[in-house]
Amino acid sequence: MFKVNEDYLKLPGSYLFSTVGKKFRAYQADHPEKKVISLGIGDVTQPLTPSTISALHSAVDEMGKAETFHGYAPDLGYDFLRNAMAEEYKGRGCDIAADEIFISDGAKSDSGNIQEIFGRDNVIAVCDPVYPVYVDSNVMAGRTGTYDETTGTWSDVIYMPCTEENGFVPQLPERVPDIIYLCSPNNPTGAALKKADLARWVDYANENHAVIIFDAAYEAYITEEDVPHSIFEIPGARTCAIELRSFSKNAGYTGLRLGATVIPKDLASADGHSLHPLWARRHGTKYNGAPYIVQRAGASVYTPQGQQEIRDLVGIYQKNAAYILNGLKEGGYTVYGGINAPYIWMKTTNGMTSWEFFDYLLENAQVVGTPGSGFGPSGEHYFRLTAFGTYENTVEAVERIRRLG
Ligand SMILES: *Cc1c(COP(=O)(O)O)cnc(C)c1O
Repeated sequence: MFKVNEDYLKLPGSYLFSTVGKKFRAYQADHPEKKVISLGIGDVTQPLTPSTISALHSAVDEMGKAETFHGYAPDLGYDFLRNAMAEEYKGRGCDIAADEIFISDGAKSDSGNIQEIFGRDNVIAVCDPVYPVYVDSNVMAGRTGTYDETTGTWSDVIYMPCTEENGFVPQLPERVPDIIYLCSPNNPTGAALKKADLARWVDYANENHAVIIFDAAYEAYITEEDVPHSIFEIPGARTCAIELRSFSKNAGYTGLRLGATVIPKDLASADGHSLHPLWARRHGTKYNGAPYIVQRAGASVYTPQGQQEIRDLVGIYQKNAAYILNGLKEGGYTVYGGINAPYIWMKTTNGMTSWEFFDYLLENAQVVGTPGSGFGPSGEHYFRLTAFGTYENTVEAVERIRRLG
């Protein structure tokens, strides 16, 4: 007689994107003549760049010949890719060696799996609003206590509200956590931590023997000088931080799948256990490596041409983000983010809830976005717009929202 993992049964339904889709389709069915524009897209839309396509083609050809065929990849990733990433870290002044970089199929799986190497008694701290994977993966592991339907929070999770008052920068919590999840530039708020903000967290983590899991998926969108691209730009991070890297939002690999997790060898628990060998063991046991052809493509991103191409690619979305941010600001709306991230965090008008505002925009401007309350209680009265649409649609959506006055 088998039993299920009851921790899975504790997960509250995730209705955010399905409800958004349902409302979108129902409206379109009732108003077939109206053109609805989505600024809710959470996926890239531009094609892969020429460097990636050409690297994929040559790697596919190699796989077709016995002399150049590649079977299982090394558990932790091919050296050609780990070395290319280590070179980039060096260029940023970060002390990260190639063998501290673990290649994977993306930051979502790594951010969900990383909790496995920590004891069940650890207390996690997350930003509110938050990327749901950090919390849900800990719920599945039985680490979060009981869920309170009315507040939408877990009893054993420390929430760090990111609000207008604190500039969407998480503040050091009163209760000391063991594991701290930070995402900068942030999804959904679009805010980015400055060097001084992140240095405060690194010092705090080191003083309290806590670990920071730093999600850098959006580093390519940074435009401001004093915003670090990596937590390892901060002195002291080697003893307290894990960094998650993704090829999804910078190089458009959402459908190709490639990422990396960086664990410095100096990172150990207070009782002297290093995390690096534990994650290596996990990879070796549960993962057979990212595909050779995809790792080859990933390495092409680090060539000078590859770098220029992804700057141009990200530039397309950055232009959209700037248009939304400035257009809505000029239209009298209160908007945040958009400068170092493809997300604009918009305050709802007339005190509407996030979902009331969703319906209002759909009915009156035929624009779809994502209700902020779906990312956590502090997201209530906010609305997330994304820069992943086409420029034409983005311009038209902003004009429509402005006409509402
Ligand atoms: C999109 C995104 C990722 C990237 O995930 P992949 O699995 O690499 O595609 C990671 N973290 C956050 C916060 C994201 O929004």
